[in-house]
Amino acid sequence: MSTSVTNSESTNPPEVHLWKIPPITVAEPLLAARRIELYERLKKIADVHRAVQFATSLAAEDMVLTHAIFECAAPITIFTLDTGRLPADTLTMIATVEKKYHTTLKRFLPQPTGVETFIAEYGLNGFFESEEVKKACCGVRKVEPLNRALQGADAWLTGQRRQQAATRSALLLNEQDEVRGIAKYNPLFDWTEAEVWSFLQFYDVPIHPLHARGYPSIGCEPCTRAIRSHEDVRAGRWWWLQSDSKECGLHVKAL
Ligand code: SF4
Repeated sequence: MSTSVTNSESTNPPEVHLWKIPPITVAEPLLAARRIELYERLKKIADVHRAVQFATSLAAEDMVLTHAIFECAAPITIFTLDTGRLPADTLTMIATVEKKYHTTLKRFLPQPTGVETFIAEYGLNGFFESEEVKKACCGVRKVEPLNRALQGADAWLTGQRRQQAATRSALLLNEQDEVRGIAKYNPLFDWTEAEVWSFLQFYDVPIHPLHARGYPSIGCEPCTRAIRSHEDVRAGRWWWLQSDSKECGLHVKAL
């Protein structure tokens, strides 16, 4: 008769703790003050510019801005870059936002000839090969459509925050986009992660479904993955690259 004892600790794989959406931790009065400050920032930006545009990824920070733009009725045009490689959940989020805010988000797609040329040269997923090929893919699928979307604009907004990455630690509210020759604003530049997540949940703003599955940052489907709770919040973006390469070319500065 066998006397073996099953040792579940030795046979089961270690439990993986994925990143989780932080709970509401910011007190309501502080949150309300941040909300009013944000609305004032947005209205002021819209006041001093002729045509302000905002490219939303539908992820957390961009949903704070989207909600704020609609709530304070700032005349800012919201659009999204449909790279052709978005997760299905992002397409669902577009529909969710359109329904909640009674709007239609304009989608900018890559030029078919640019995509065909990239695929012919590198293959559909050639961006895994090197930083250069990844830049080329982002150039075709993100940067060119963004440049097209911003034609005629004299300012654009981003959801970038200082806390998100070392490359963003010196971020300011406003800067000059020297590449495109227009103003660029980061209205959440000084917001904390806690403020973002508290705002979204306290004010019942739609939250991208991937956030609940371990994704703090969301981009194209093949280039984004869930992270563990102890990892950097941008670790899931282009995870095969070094941490100083976690930008896609949308926020490049002129040399
Ligand atoms: S994130 Fe990935 S799939 Fe999307 S444009 Fe950049 S390299 Fe291409």
